[in-house]
Amino acid sequence: MNANLFAALQGAFPADLDSCAIECAECSDGSAQGQELHYSWRDLERGTAMLANLLLSLDLPAGSRIAAHTEKSVEALMLYLAVLRAGYVYLPLNPAYQAAELDYFLKDAEPAVLVCAGAQFSWVSKLAFLAGTTYVFTLNGDRSGSLLDRASSMSDRHDVAEKSAGDLAAILYTSGTTGLSKGAMLSHGNLLSNARTLKDFWAWRSDDVLIHALPIFHVHGLFVASHGAILAGAKMIWFAKFEPRDVIRRFADATVFMGVPTLYVRMLGEAALTPAACTRMRLFISGSAPLLLDTFADWQTRSGHIILERYGMSETLMLSSNPCRALDGERVGGTVGPALPGVELRVQDEAGRLCAPGEIGAIEARGPNVFSGYWRMPEKTQQEFTADGWFKTGDVGKRDTNGYVTIVGRSKDLIISGGFNVYPAEIEGFLNELEGVAESAVIGVPHADFGEAVIAVLVAKPAHSLDGAALIATLKRQIAGFKVPKQIFVVGELPRNAMGKVQKKLLREQHGGLFA
Ligand code: ATP
Ligand code: MG
Repeated sequence: MNANLFAALQGAFPADLDSCAIECAECSDGSAQGQELHYSWRDLERGTAMLANLLLSLDLPAGSRIAAHTEKSVEALMLYLAVLRAGYVYLPLNPAYQAAELDYFLKDAEPAVLVCAGAQFSWVSKLAFLAGTTYVFTLNGDRSGSLLDRASSMSDRHDVAEKSAGDLAAILYTSGTTGLSKGAMLSHGNLLSNARTLKDFWAWRSDDVLIHALPIFHVHGLFVASHGAILAGAKMIWFAKFEPRDVIRRFADATVFMGVPTLYVRMLGEAALTPAACTRMRLFISGSAPLLLDTFADWQTRSGHIILERYGMSETLMLSSNPCRALDGERVGGTVGPALPGVELRVQDEAGRLCAPGEIGAIEARGPNVFSGYWRMPEKTQQEFTADGWFKTGDVGKRDTNGYVTIVGRSKDLIISGGFNVYPAEIEGFLNELEGVAESAVIGVPHADFGEAVIAVLVAKPAHSLDGAALIATLKRQIAGFKVPKQIFVVGELPRNAMGKVQKKLLREQHGGLFA
């Protein structure tokens, strides 16, 4: 049987190919997507066939990477599906990347084909050709550009390329939160097994309607969201960019929403968010970064729904999830739920022994969803797997007796102060509870006596001012002295990347000289 992921997705298209697969939402700011475009399943079928035929006409070597450095559009999603369909390897890149970043990814991945925005063709194509890329096409948000021009003369019939489960389907670069981005090699089997698991676990139905408002250069928007809807034969309402008011307005027509925590925070700032606006919705999912307990609680009050938080990463796809159905258990705020069916998680101490429930240690994962390694980094790959074949996620956490996982930070963010381990998430939890604190980031900076010293960077709630010395005094009454930040900085906002992850690396660079 053909293990090509596209074959499984195509097999899930509904019988009525003329029904709507993707509706582009109208944005109130009048931006490009304000045209109420509807794409049928037949459009997806024909569009991906034509694009696949275009790729095949280029006579590329097997295993060629096809890179996309484009704005979010349905055609960009079709390009991804066409790459799978034709049997090549998809490589999505954040369209915000500028020359230095793009140069790194192109030299590292050496794609044979690059698709970019027309307005960026001159500088992007120069970099691409220097990196050995043979073809550079353009694709714009208004569906113009050489990619679709060339594809329009291709046949709309195409037999899906034969693939085995272990064949490479995509290379996804990690977000670069802790260091240089690494290319995670994901196979057709990795992607399909995870998509099937999530389809069952989140009880996807053909009459679901997904609001797709995430970028499509990352696991969350490209795989978790798109595969979920397509594998269920469910419709998507497509937002080229996230506009809280417009998204809330469309909750009336939808059943599922996926977002990173910052999207939930922004929607909470809108008066239009009410239980009445969310009565048709059945599932709100959050992931990619920790969801604050305040956001979890406020969302329940304001929408009448309990957010389902899940946990995953580029290398492993989704690992754990709070339950969807009541019969599977409760959704517990502050946790990312138990391991998904078919996925194994364990928490290990420094000596490589299994931690008891409640004990903090390194989270490791195993399963058909786990990638085969980092692109062209065999040594790094070897380091990140244990001798018995588990992937070291780099996250630190604990499990309760029901298997629910709580993440307390990343191993690279762990602070060792005066010989004691300090888990940033624990201190952030206390800080966030203090009067006037909206959010916090706790980091370690070099310190001559302690090795590292704990410091905190805080954002105040609107109309509050924070007094660092007073907050430190309060904390000293609550937690052990070695965990209390030695200094507190108050900022307007925390530095975040496109997926809403706090860039602690930047904060460490900024404050690194504090005690030096
Ligand atoms: P890099 O590996 O390059 O440093 P990154 O780890 O941020 O970057 P991704 O693969 O995009 O790159 O993100 C995966 C990480 O995101 C996880 O390892 C975890 O730290 C974090 N994460 C994902 N979901 C959650 C969640 N629900 N709660 C807390 N953290 C999460
Ligand atoms: Mg990572």
